[in-house]
Amino acid sequence: MPLWGGVEAGGTKFVCAIGENPGLVLAVTRFPTKDPTTTLEQVIKFFREQEKKFGPIAAVGVSSFGPVDPDPQSPTFGYITTTPKPGWASTDVAGYLRRELEVPVGFDTDVNGAALGEFRWGAAEELDTFIYLTIGTGIGGGGLVNGKLMHGLVHPEMGHMRIPHNTNDDPFPGICPYHGDCWEGLASGPAMEQRWGKPATELPDDHPAWRLEAEYLALALHNLILAISPQRIIMGGGVMQRTALFPLVRQRVQELLHSYVKHPQIISKIDEYIVPPALGNRSGVLGAFALAEAAWQSEKQNEA
Ligand code: ADP
Ligand code: ZN
Repeated sequence: MPLWGGVEAGGTKFVCAIGENPGLVLAVTRFPTKDPTTTLEQVIKFFREQEKKFGPIAAVGVSSFGPVDPDPQSPTFGYITTTPKPGWASTDVAGYLRRELEVPVGFDTDVNGAALGEFRWGAAEELDTFIYLTIGTGIGGGGLVNGKLMHGLVHPEMGHMRIPHNTNDDPFPGICPYHGDCWEGLASGPAMEQRWGKPATELPDDHPAWRLEAEYLALALHNLILAISPQRIIMGGGVMQRTALFPLVRQRVQELLHSYVKHPQIISKIDEYIVPPALGNRSGVLGAFALAEAAWQSEKQNEA
């Protein structure tokens, strides 16, 4: 079996791994995200060291924070494009790794990467249409539709959907620099921290913050269920570590949909419908293995 390099490129930290699949991860490292040159050099250093121990990597996959350009036909394929993160706008991540390591590089959004990981080895193995969401420092969503990763004009930006915001009940204006009270502006971890004056990790389960958070998550899920008809919704990210959120969100989704979508997954099996990632916090980096494999296969096909 070929060896894959996986990179989960996050706004706060990078995770790199080398291996074949979840059962065969030979090495993993984590480090904080600094400027692009320092950070990407650290990625290269890790892979070069691992190649000395384990042999050559066949391809690398990157699940990246964004916005990104995931279109292999585009001249800026593999770039982080318009991110507000200082120093990182217009960074050619895939091209740099490809030139340095001289292997095919697969590249997609962090959430599409994580979705692919869950599809190959996790909570979406038997599905062809599902959504993977992260509720963390930001909110993002990706997934597969009819067996293919969701792309399009660019890629989905589900976290910036507009959802109803009752400013009488919740006068907090939201924190998205682009939209104020979009979904991420109202319901990301930092939005919770600013609204309530302390980090989400410190809000007890019986704090009213969690009912409001469940409301915002359920409103967006309602829209996603109606727009995409996913067979499952996987919810990861730091905020979803608060497992008490799952039953609140499931119940509220059922109430909001009001039995309109008459499918047993929603009416009676919602515990199997809205779920945490089976790969835990490893979905992104393992999904990057799957992105590497896909890039390697497509390169082989092109050569044939
Ligand atoms: P990132 O999105 O940067 O990759 P995470 O997914 O870990 O990072 O999300 C970080 C956010 O999750 C922070 O705002 C933090 O307060 C929140 N968070 C982390 N753990 C918990 C927890 N157990 N309960 C509630 N919120 C949490
Ligand atoms: Zn926004």
